[in-house]
Amino acid sequence: METLLKINNLNLGFEIDDKFYPAIKDLSFELKKGTIHAIIGESGSGKTMSVMSIIKLLPKNAKITSGEILFEGKNLLNLKENEINKIRGKKIALIPQDPMTSLNPLYNIENQMIEAVIEHKKCSKKEAYDIAINKLKEVNVYEPEKKIKAYPFELSGGIKQRVIIATALALEPDIIIADEPTTALDVTVQAQILEILKEIKNKGKSIILISHDLGVVSSYADFISIMYSGRIVENAPCRVLFKNPKHPYTKALIEALPYNKEKKLKNIKGTPSPVNEIIEGCEFHKRCDYAEDICKSKIFHLCQQEDLSNVACRLYDC
Ligand code: SF4
Repeated sequence: METLLKINNLNLGFEIDDKFYPAIKDLSFELKKGTIHAIIGESGSGKTMSVMSIIKLLPKNAKITSGEILFEGKNLLNLKENEINKIRGKKIALIPQDPMTSLNPLYNIENQMIEAVIEHKKCSKKEAYDIAINKLKEVNVYEPEKKIKAYPFELSGGIKQRVIIATALALEPDIIIADEPTTALDVTVQAQILEILKEIKNKGKSIILISHDLGVVSSYADFISIMYSGRIVENAPCRVLFKNPKHPYTKALIEALPYNKEKKLKNIKGTPSPVNEIIEGCEFHKRCDYAEDICKSKIFHLCQQEDLSNVACRLYDC
């Protein structure tokens, strides 16, 4: 399987009151062509910052200290703002959590989609309109000729999210980053949006899907990376991860899934540490049932296992 995007040892942190707080630690993963790679983690685990660093949409006080993000033979971290602008949207598109933050309430959908298409494709207004209608059809918007005339407030959350996905698709990106695309939607609409993402993947696109809900993405992802406190603690093909989870945090997440009827529902003890608390050793040690003294001082890095999963834990160290 061809690798489309590769992140190597990315480290990023925040400068707050002259202090530096690490937020992304030694992040490495590959996005394969025509796959959905889900990044799962609790709120504040660093999953959104990880993908925002790909398109350089980071807060002002964020600082990347090392690593590389390889795409089309270039390290994206070395690109100037005008160079990354050519990639953002056109080659790597973002679908945000809340569609209202990306749609302008003052303009109808037609104006917003056509403007985006013309800017990126330099085509005529008529061509841009035809592309917009086709993409709205592709994401199953009923009566697209009517919906395109509507203003955002006239559409449901599910349709607005489809409009965002259609706009992203109209620019024909190679990679789509979907940042919790279903969080603001109700459960039935969530499934429809995830089905659309799966159809898009089946047509050859590659998707990075950010979610806090391992259960929701389990039917859609090809690969899963589990993040905890800024670090990927396990990544694996989806089937492998569910059949044989290894990292204690991954196991705990799976045991906490409501549909896991084989075992008693289990809570993960404790709470994640705040970003401004620097933890020595394994970041999970205060919550881990298998922690030993060495876990309080040593950082374990991802180590490849026989079944192709990678695990950062003393129990699976190389
Ligand atoms: Fe638990 Fe230690 Fe593994 Fe961390 S390194 S997950 S504390 S056993």
